[in-house]
Amino acid sequence: MPKFAEIAIPLPMDRIFHYGIPERLAQDIAVGKRVFVPFTNRTMVGYVVGFSEISDVKDVKEIISVIDKDPIISQEMLKLTEWIKENYFCSWGSAIEAVVPGGIKKGKVAIGSRLSDADVGSGQFAQSVPHILNEEQSKAVKLISSFIEKKEYKTFLLYGITASGKTEVYLQSIDLVLSKGRSAIVLVPEISLTPQTIERFVSRFGEGVAVIHSKLTPAKRFLEWKKIKEGRARIVVGARSAIFSPVKDLGLIIIDEEHETTYKQDDVPRYHARDVAEERAKLNNCPLILGSATPSLESYYRAKEGRYTLVKLTKRIDERLLPKVKIVDMRMELATRKKVAIFSKVFLDAVDTAMKAGKQAIIFLNRRGFSTFINCKSCGLVLKCKHCDTVMVYHFETKKLVCHYCNYTTEPPDICPKCRSGYIRYFGLGTERVESEISHNFAHVKIARMDSDTTAKRGSHDRILGLFKSGAVKLLVGTQMIAKGLDFPEVTLVGVVSADVTLNIPDFRSSERTFNLLTQVAGRAGRGDAGGEVIIQTYAPHHYAILTAAKHDYDKFYHEEIISRKELLFPPFINLVKITVRARNDDAAANAAADLANAIKAEDKDMMVAGPAPAPITRMRGYFRHNILLKDKDRLKMCGLMKKVLSKFRKPHGILIAVDVDPISM
Ligand code: ADP
Ligand code: ZN
Ligand code: ZN
Repeated sequence: MPKFAEIAIPLPMDRIFHYGIPERLAQDIAVGKRVFVPFTNRTMVGYVVGFSEISDVKDVKEIISVIDKDPIISQEMLKLTEWIKENYFCSWGSAIEAVVPGGIKKGKVAIGSRLSDADVGSGQFAQSVPHILNEEQSKAVKLISSFIEKKEYKTFLLYGITASGKTEVYLQSIDLVLSKGRSAIVLVPEISLTPQTIERFVSRFGEGVAVIHSKLTPAKRFLEWKKIKEGRARIVVGARSAIFSPVKDLGLIIIDEEHETTYKQDDVPRYHARDVAEERAKLNNCPLILGSATPSLESYYRAKEGRYTLVKLTKRIDERLLPKVKIVDMRMELATRKKVAIFSKVFLDAVDTAMKAGKQAIIFLNRRGFSTFINCKSCGLVLKCKHCDTVMVYHFETKKLVCHYCNYTTEPPDICPKCRSGYIRYFGLGTERVESEISHNFAHVKIARMDSDTTAKRGSHDRILGLFKSGAVKLLVGTQMIAKGLDFPEVTLVGVVSADVTLNIPDFRSSERTFNLLTQVAGRAGRGDAGGEVIIQTYAPHHYAILTAAKHDYDKFYHEEIISRKELLFPPFINLVKITVRARNDDAAANAAADLANAIKAEDKDMMVAGPAPAPITRMRGYFRHNILLKDKDRLKMCGLMKKVLSKFRKPHGILIAVDVDPISM
């Protein structure tokens, strides 16, 4: 027996700790098991990652106990988490912790043991039959299958317009994987937003599917994990973290809607599931499919460079045309009317036509609440959050002002808190106001609203969609929640109240996000025989993101966007590392950020360092935040540099530093 165990501990320290192995534990201890260890003056859970004859410290403490009978972390997961630690700047212990299912976190032993498996299974049996593939689909399946057959890694970017049959390609590729006795992992952006996709997997594969979603209790989550680990479920469908599922003989990974930002975790470990999936596919010699109608700039660029293999589906299954899109220039509306109108005449006429024809419409605005801007006419005061540099949003239903970043809630004031005048006015619009205005215009039409306010309660999401599906509701108003995946053939009109909401966010991805959202929401129209129409209201009618979305022209959008990314040197041309320095005191944060930036520059004179600069929303939840941005082609080099710098950096009291590799936003 070796003398020491190497233990990874989920703390932000880039090192492995050595512990002695007492005689009584020599039989039990093994790599991949959890152990209790003394750490400073408490007991912590650690993960055994290896053994060693020598130790790097003198006073080695001993392991207290071994928690698991069998290892819960496989060799494969150890390798994968080690890769995550190197690439996403976290400790090995933190990376491993992301892999451990909720039910047995913090050293718990199988808390789900009282539940039976019957509580978990979907209880459904396979019922849906495969379609006969069209030419493009069968070419795609053949190509992917050849890599499944020869057990070879390859990433395919399946770029197919909405309703071109991508999901059918996934399903039939999985058929082959199952016939070989292997397993597949399918990632979807968010379980609750993609009920129709999940349903197709469950009805095709029945009991063999494990669906991992955030509403599972930790105990049930653990049972699903066990079912997967023991090979009783060979297909896993889930959000981001399902990439860590302990499947047996992984034969295929699929990421649907690969461009979605939900695949990036915004907490430690800050991994991107797309890149983790690529690494896991390599470890298992299996293909990875990235599917999208609007691929991320990164993925399309990688396909053009040859790192991914591009597979295209260019036609809709039923040969149905994509809906016609009309752009309404709201500046003109403003010029011809005195008051700022929420809806243009074109917009209202289109709703009217759809309603008179007995059809349904979706009205989209990516902002919730009623008024989004409250201001005193007398002294000019704008009501801001107490803890953030954000405006308070008025919510009509609760009659409260809410900060959308920290949820701080207050009563709306009758008089101005600064000058005591009574001229408080409400401006700006969110979905509540849109719902209210549209109901004035169409008093007899049944309207429902879907956003995170109306879907907070369990089951409300399904209830609203049910009402819309049955036709009881004719108009559905909502945020990005209604932009994705919904397939309602009676919807002939999609109206976008303002395309500018996402466009005006100061971020290098705002054009891309706008294009994606518009393309997706437009894809909700005209899925039935009656065809469809889309109306986009905007104050920026000539912006390329809006023009190309209106023409359903991804390639043109990519072409325009890639030029600006290249000029400004942003991904996909380089990788970014964002370092956020925050403190309760603004000067303290700014000074520490300046010191840190200098330390980085001193360590590596050639590194491209931007900032420090105040974050776009500088104060958040009471902390002032200043960002430093590193730009380089080599992610590992930047992580190595930050490890070096931070190990020497003398962090003043009260300063917090976060390192985000490949950040999603600024
Ligand atoms: P996507 O995932 O690209 O949006 P889907 O796979 O959902 O497209 O396909 C759109 C619709 O067409 C679905 O209702 C699906 O069942 C159907 N479909 C897919 N492939 C075929 C096919 N080869 N023949 C007939 N119908 C198909
Ligand atoms: Zn005032
Ligand atoms: Zn706030």
